[in-house]
Amino acid sequence: MLSWETSSSIASMRHCRAWVEIDLAALKHNVEQIKASLAARSDLMAVVKADAYGHGAVTVAKTALQAGASWLGVATVPEGIELRQANLKAPILVMGAVNTPEEVRVMARWQLQPTIVTPKQALVFSDILVNDSKQRSPLPVHLKLDTGMSRLGYSWQQAADFYRFVQRLPQLEIASVYSHLATADDPDPTFMQTQQQRFEAAIAQLRSLDLQPPRLHLANSAATLTDASLHYDLVRVGLGLYGLYPAPHLQTALSLRPVMQVKARITHLKTIAAGTGVSYGHQFVADRPMRIAVVGIGYADGVPRLLSNRLTALIHGTPAPQIGAITMDQMMLDVTHLTHLQEGDIVTLLGRDRQSQITAEDWANTLGTISWEILCSFKHRLPRILVESACEIEPTATHQDSDASQRP
Ligand SMILES: *Cc1c(COP(=O)(O)O)cnc(C)c1O
Repeated sequence: MLSWETSSSIASMRHCRAWVEIDLAALKHNVEQIKASLAARSDLMAVVKADAYGHGAVTVAKTALQAGASWLGVATVPEGIELRQANLKAPILVMGAVNTPEEVRVMARWQLQPTIVTPKQALVFSDILVNDSKQRSPLPVHLKLDTGMSRLGYSWQQAADFYRFVQRLPQLEIASVYSHLATADDPDPTFMQTQQQRFEAAIAQLRSLDLQPPRLHLANSAATLTDASLHYDLVRVGLGLYGLYPAPHLQTALSLRPVMQVKARITHLKTIAAGTGVSYGHQFVADRPMRIAVVGIGYADGVPRLLSNRLTALIHGTPAPQIGAITMDQMMLDVTHLTHLQEGDIVTLLGRDRQSQITAEDWANTLGTISWEILCSFKHRLPRILVESACEIEPTATHQDSDASQRP
């Protein structure tokens, strides 16, 4: 079933040259699959930083919480505020650095839980909150240890000093101790195991001094898919929610479904003669008479220009190679082999169309980058259209007999 928001969006979609579809059924499925795979004591934090990796933070957060997540993770204070303004009540961990007094007061006001990475930072937080007359109860804070990522975090060897220092400060309440893995997606587990051993050693050190962190967490998506011994009390999952696997060797663990599809319309069809150059710089020259489709999506929408002449799109389930330089708002496809095309027909850049599928990982492999970056690259110029299951609204199944007058 389609929600009101969805059906109204579909009406306006007829006028869209390009859009991003967010499949909430797939998201729900992924959350449920991941939740069911966790160790019994572990909760799921839905990592929705960077506008939920481009999927829309509020929508993703609501759906993930309904489907079994109980925490939300963001990178910045404004990302947390956006979720609170949408009336979401779940605990929110801000994983990025927060230092200024103004940020501290704002976090307390919106009940956002900070990551603390040094004793000095904890002292600043405590001082500000003690002097803030509006602050009644202590703010939950999360102590981050650096066990080998060399990003945020206090040295794991000094965990006990750090913990004792923060524990004694007024207006702060330690809610967890955590760390982040640098190589969890590597098929060679050696360094991940080293990080886990360091984390365990730090926790053992705390316990030997009778310091009991209420919650421990270490795993991102890759570690969550690898082994339940990495789950602890909470897992922080981003990529997996969105239906992508952190690495090929982790694909066997669960059956995840991509949540995002990127689509655009054919805006113009034409035949070009052999010898005709296509797009800026004529990087592509037709070696035979060709039929080409102009499609209304380009690099300003988030399709990397480096994919020029290396991209394949799907039209009615059939692959069509992209030719010539991708331009700011448009690109061209070779559709010589396709019949019955019309202007207004839908082109799938990322996603499934009948038996074929193109994933963010395919683009990432072509470009030598990672699927996380591909998901985050689509601009807000592309409307996000909510669907319950992408195939339900995809009109290609009835394309051959559809009424051309309905198309723009
Ligand atoms: C982004 C992030 C995650 C989620 O990583 P995925 O690989 O997308 O699951 C978890 N923890 C921290 C600290 C992060 O910054």
